[in-house]
Amino acid sequence: MGGNSFGEYFGAPDGLNDRIGPHTTETCNTYNMLKLTNHLFQWNVSAKEADFYERGLFNHILASQDPVHGGVTYFLSLAMGGHKHFESKFDDFTCCVGTGMENHASYGSGIYFHDHDKLYVNQFIASTLE
Ligand SMILES: [Zn+2]
Repeated sequence: MGGNSFGEYFGAPDGLNDRIGPHTTETCNTYNMLKLTNHLFQWNVSAKEADFYERGLFNHILASQDPVHGGVTYFLSLAMGGHKHFESKFDDFTCCVGTGMENHASYGSGIYFHDHDKLYVNQFIASTLE
């Protein structure tokens, strides 16, 4: 789904399926991976990087905000029967609350890229480029 951590920690590549639980996929981790992926794409244009960004953005970051009250998740549980826990506005302030504010204000940062003669439209997001 684009997330890749368990309890704030990375693990062996392609092994998250062995560590699924209520503390799977910290939102900050995906936030950082998307920032890194934008840099990697700028250094070396690759559909693989653009696809990774889309998976993380749509499956994790967009799903990390409470659509009613605006709170954000610390972890996005992938446990069977798991559920989202949105942090409270006044009683929680994990790292993911801080990056969560930036997450939802930066949807436009990964849509368009260009070099001297090419334009890359990487995300299927309603937008206008001028
Ligand atoms: Zn965090």
